Amino acid sequence: PVERKSWMERLRAGLRKTGSSISTVFTGTKIDEDLYEELETALLMADAGVKATTFVLDDLRRRVKDTKTTNPAEVKALLIDALTELLQPLEKGLVIGEHEPTVIMVAGVNGAGKTTSIGKLTRHLAEADASVLLAAADTFRAAAREQLGVWATRNTVEIIGQQGGDPAAVSFDAVSAGKARQKDVVLVDTAGRLPTQLHLMEELKKIKRVIGKAEATAPHEVLLVIDGNTGQNALNQVKAFDDALQLTGLIVTKLDGTAKGGVLAAIAQERPVPVYFIGVGEKLEDLQTFNAREFAQAIVP
Ligand code: GDP
Repeated sequence: PVERKSWMERLRAGLRKTGSSISTVFTGTKIDEDLYEELETALLMADAGVKATTFVLDDLRRRVKDTKTTNPAEVKALLIDALTELLQPLEKGLVIGEHEPTVIMVAGVNGAGKTTSIGKLTRHLAEADASVLLAAADTFRAAAREQLGVWATRNTVEIIGQQGGDPAAVSFDAVSAGKARQKDVVLVDTAGRLPTQLHLMEELKKIKRVIGKAEATAPHEVLLVIDGNTGQNALNQVKAFDDALQLTGLIVTKLDGTAKGGVLAAIAQERPVPVYFIGVGEKLEDLQTFNAREFAQAIVP
């Protein structure tokens, strides 16, 4: 049988692409402007963005000065420290159990990995002995409901919502049902794209508002799924969705195969919405919690 690589190995394999040009920087003989320039290029190539790149390099220069090191190889550890400190505020776990049910609304553009992530999240919650009700509020896309149904069956959880229904009404019904059936979690899957004349953000705001009518404190979490492989584009999505919906967390997918993992540094610098989970593969178990140091170590191989 083919042995699957551990998720850490897959994350490393993916992020090695991000850091491939970073690692060669430290093989020189002295710490000079060339080194910083090469690092700058490498970070920009990894889609860390100008702000985060400048921030990290300034921080690194300070660290080099403080330690008085003259060895390029030692700069590597200092860079890992600098990145870890920048990414640390993104480390946060999803907490459930404070509400009955905890209502989690999940958004993300088509193709980001939203449906897959909801399936993985459902399994994660089931493993924590939480009962889950899925709301298929992406009523525009027939395939979305079908796909979610497959995940629901695999995880043996109930699902509410039918093709062509009103997304806000489906969400309202699901939250009401979740309360009546004493579920621990209601997961609301929303559309990632609408029939052209409608505005996605308005639709999502409406769903959020209507969820609040079914349960005054809800939604308790508003998560955005972004494709880690889309770099600065993912950052722009975080800003747009956060402006519209006040995000509480992110799920960053496809980090097992990206050269653009530096985008997390950009997110930390420009819009620090916590990263609840990272996706490191297509299987159900490929959803992991985010650890800043592990991530920094994987990026700087
Ligand atoms: P949605 O349109 O946002 O619902 O996206 P899907 O959940 O259908 O995912 C789109 C594609 O990305 C599918 O082929 C998934 O298997 C794949 N995918 C999702 N998450 C990951 C991940 O973490 N790693 C990899 N390699 N593929 C992923």
